[in-house]
Amino acid sequence: MPEQSTRTAIVTGSARGIGAAVAERLAADGMAVGVLDLDQDACTAVAERIVAAGGKAVGVACNVADESDVQAAVEKVAAELGAPTVLVNNAGVLRDNLIFKMSANDWDTVMNVHLRGSFLMTRAVQAYMTKEKYGRIVNLSSTSALGNRGQVNYAAAKAGMQGFTKTLAIELGKFGVTANAIAPGFIETDMTKATAERVGMDFEEFKKAAAAGIPVGRGGKPEDIAAAASFFCSEEAGFVSGQVLYVAGGPRD
Ligand code: NAP
Repeated sequence: MPEQSTRTAIVTGSARGIGAAVAERLAADGMAVGVLDLDQDACTAVAERIVAAGGKAVGVACNVADESDVQAAVEKVAAELGAPTVLVNNAGVLRDNLIFKMSANDWDTVMNVHLRGSFLMTRAVQAYMTKEKYGRIVNLSSTSALGNRGQVNYAAAKAGMQGFTKTLAIELGKFGVTANAIAPGFIETDMTKATAERVGMDFEEFKKAAAAGIPVGRGGKPEDIAAAASFFCSEEAGFVSGQVLYVAGGPRD
């Protein structure tokens, strides 16, 4: 079996926020990283940061909801960095609204990015994993999977990510592939900043209010999620599969 240093990872939605932190952490752990996101320049910037820090990375523009984009991006990463055997399905969007005001388009967009995107990415990457008889898949769920006002689309998608994860664990286990989900609570990123704007709150006040309800007394940082992803993506986590880890500064399930 090759050393961890030769593993290739793909992290979707990794041009910023949690995905960028995960990409940088996996690179620091010794993996070569495919940085996938919608905007090529933004992907390149993160890949360049990784390379400047002594790592190996390539930035590839990819809409995870687009089948041909996904196929091309995974092939490009495989050609440039080697067979991808680690996949973090992180790309995500919000289209929050109460159900009576939610458009079918906003429902579809959220389902397409989170569920269809994770399906397409995983289907493409598992071909390499099963061939290599090794794989680590991490899917981003959320505490919203437990239900959250104004997020009927997002909550359904994030609950779906948990069933998706458990089924991958069952189907792919015999190939040495594990699949686990991370369900973050409140993490300070552009996504939560946008939520603050939507509800008309200053982000600093929003963060303070969120921290007040979190047992450890602070909001989460992208690095908190990267640390959990690092564990699930490690060689030594090979007997941990089909799990959902709530990373929320307290118990949320
Ligand atoms: P973020 O800052 O908004 O970053 C998400 C990234 O995904 C963006 O770079 C975005 O690109 C990209 N993306 C969106 N649609 C895409 C697509 N179709 N294909 C490829 N990339 C796409 O969000 P984040 O807070 O880091 O969240 C990362 C993940 O954690 C998401 O799955 C989110 O649901 C989950 N999560 C976050 C929190 C939180 O509190 N922040 C809590 C629980 C779960 P653009 O910028 O170009 O749109």
